Amino acid sequence: MAKSIMIVDDSATMRKIIMRTVRVAGLDIGETHEAGNGKEALEKLKASGADIMLCDINMPEMTGPELVKKVRELPSCAQTKIVMVSTETAKDIVDDVLTSGANDYISKPFTPEKFKEKLAPLMN
Ligand SMILES: [Mg+2]
Repeated sequence: MAKSIMIVDDSATMRKIIMRTVRVAGLDIGETHEAGNGKEALEKLKASGADIMLCDINMPEMTGPELVKKVRELPSCAQTKIVMVSTETAKDIVDDVLTSGANDYISKPFTPEKFKEKLAPLMN
């Protein structure tokens, strides 16, 4: 069954690139939503939920790690799979988002193959 997806990044260009990469990867994606920061993402998630959230780390208003913690407090998003997508490679920052409740991590720059490898197991 097609999965709904939420793409969160403060760069509109990066959101488009991520969306295109998800499509090229051939993943079964249905409804798609976008948000430019954590605050906007949280509001949209409360309204419509998402099966998968792809989330930047460095954003204004509410950062990726702050968003992950808030999403994990929402009963309606208990099943939402969260994959961070960021240029951030500092191990303590990556470890922090994973222990905060993110399911996996994809570093930028990425390929459709990488998206397939990381997202396919989360789409069962
Ligand atoms: Mg950013």
